[in-house]
Amino acid sequence: MIASARRARLSSYRLGDLKKLITARLSRLHTPSRPRLHTPTLHTPSLLRAASTMSRSTVDLGHMTIKLLPALSDNYMYLLIDKSTKQAATVDPVKPEHIVSAVESEGLHLSTVLTTHHHLDHAEGNEKLVSMVTGLTVCGNDDRIGALNKTVKHNDQFKVGSLTVTCLETPCHTKGHICYYVTSEDLSDKVVFTGDTLFVGGCGRFFEGTPEQMHHALCQVLSSLPPDTGVYCGHEYTVSNLLYAQHVEPDNKALSEKLQWAKDKRERDTPTIPSTIGQELSFNPFMRVSEASVQNHCKTTDPISTMKFLREEKNGFKPKM
Ligand SMILES: [Zn+2]
Repeated sequence: MIASARRARLSSYRLGDLKKLITARLSRLHTPSRPRLHTPTLHTPSLLRAASTMSRSTVDLGHMTIKLLPALSDNYMYLLIDKSTKQAATVDPVKPEHIVSAVESEGLHLSTVLTTHHHLDHAEGNEKLVSMVTGLTVCGNDDRIGALNKTVKHNDQFKVGSLTVTCLETPCHTKGHICYYVTSEDLSDKVVFTGDTLFVGGCGRFFEGTPEQMHHALCQVLSSLPPDTGVYCGHEYTVSNLLYAQHVEPDNKALSEKLQWAKDKRERDTPTIPSTIGQELSFNPFMRVSEASVQNHCKTTDPISTMKFLREEKNGFKPKM
């Protein structure tokens, strides 16, 4: 009797919990979407596994199309499409089912996975994707990347249809971080997928590297790309990054204009991607560590010390949204 009473109490308790859960889920579903402003602290998958409500968008260039597919709380996956052959690559497909449905609806041939780094919010979908699509080449430069079958090095090149992919080693956020620079045959289209190395208005944390390495990645490797190269990064962190940038350079006009533009975009739940290398050089403090205005803020004239100071200050910076 006691046991059955306890069972009854337990099951009614569970039923009550279930009702609460369903009510909470439903009310969340019916809550109008608000601007999603995230601080750049998460590098592991969010507990909220629901697909992001951020709108997808497509960038249509002369020879290539880039589809932005938001995932998790603030990640971006990408589909890179060669228009002439319909061959495609995907960058950091953490939610592979969304990639596969986009590939099928567009009638594409997906051949390649470009993995920027091993963190789970970028690479966790690889194993599932290779089980859904046969014959995929999975690129990266870290044994911790799932389903990796093509280890790439600096300046390695390969084709996706008529497009050329050049691998750029940018270790610091992680030891094996790779950025992928993609060009059309006539070089009229140029884009770079920067993962968690370069963000719009900021850069990734130095989890496995040094200020020297991030300086090399941002101020030598990525800064030397043509200024009109489109920048496609791994997270939607633009507004909080630019609020910090404004703290560093309050008189930078390009920066304040970009911040206002980014706030308007986010209020409409629209991505702030892509940027360009040229734009980043005008307002991203981590790419401007040789500028007097940025060095003055950090009270040093050494670019590496400036990089170190910026990263440490940014780690503790609480933007006023
Ligand atoms: Zn990361």
